Amino acid sequence: MSTQEHPLGISFEFFPPNTDAGREKLVGVRDALARRAPRFFSVTYGAGGSTQARTLNTVHMVRESGFTTAPHLSCIGSDKGALRELLARYREDGIDSLVALRGDLPSGMGGSGVGQLRYANELVEFIREETGDHFEIAVAAYPESHPQAPNLERDLENFARKMKAGANLAITQYFFSAEAYFHFVERARALGVEAPIVPGIMPITNYAKLARFSDACGAEIPRWIRKQLEAYGDDSEAIAAFGEEVISRLCQRLLDGGAPGLHFYTLNQSAPCLRILDNITG
Ligand code: FAD
Repeated sequence: MSTQEHPLGISFEFFPPNTDAGREKLVGVRDALARRAPRFFSVTYGAGGSTQARTLNTVHMVRESGFTTAPHLSCIGSDKGALRELLARYREDGIDSLVALRGDLPSGMGGSGVGQLRYANELVEFIREETGDHFEIAVAAYPESHPQAPNLERDLENFARKMKAGANLAITQYFFSAEAYFHFVERARALGVEAPIVPGIMPITNYAKLARFSDACGAEIPRWIRKQLEAYGDDSEAIAAFGEEVISRLCQRLLDGGAPGLHFYTLNQSAPCLRILDNITG
């Protein structure tokens, strides 16, 4: 990853914008966040390759900042031929970091169209078979358990399998309980995972969106946070101020407890991440 690393090992995630205005705005967001010298940026990918061209265009735009930029890549709904081609394209373009995921099938696709690789551990194996050590590979981790996992123990075993398939780094789903993260890391270490497990951080800026995302991805919003955000109603300034305080404290706790860095789900906005970073000390 980049040689100008931030001492905290911070990273920022973007989604590929689908309008010209969104693309233009992201250039400014990229530049504002690049001043914090991130370890890397990453760009999400729609399952089944639905954002393939936009992800690639966004990766190229973000890389102009001079910082390592990692495309996310999911295997669900894709065949090995298509994945092989995409890996070759990334290599030709000088990309050397990836976030490797299973992804989620769009609702309605059911069990059909799952593809040749069913789980992220199979994708990591495939990338290593095809490209050796060319890519630094990050994978996803779920301190509060993946929503489809029967229990945390089974999910941890699956996580450890994915790391042992050749991942270099894990980035967690966002969460609001530092304890869940520390417990997960401890259990993963007991299963032999030595690689860094970087907490994923979701700044709080909009309650309706946060509640929707959290329901979908299984992240628990503690009752006291939910109640407070509900009480603010449409007062976006109050939500932003409360969110900044809660997430800054969470980040500080994670770093004080030994987290190796922070990965921000930016939602293509710089200000909330910058305010949080201003509040914490590495
Ligand atoms: P896996 O690690 O494959 O796990 C999925 C489920 O299967 C889990 O319940 C696990 O316990 C189980 N499992 C895993 N391996 C096995 C096995 N070998 N046998 C049996 N069960 C197994 N989604 C996108 O579509 N695009 C993105 O860009 C994107 N980026 C993300 C970035 C991060 C940091 C995170 C945390 C998530 C991201 N997601 C993205 C969401 C992710 O695709 C979903 O959470 C998806 O449901 C699981 O992907 P995974 O790679 O974690 O899957």
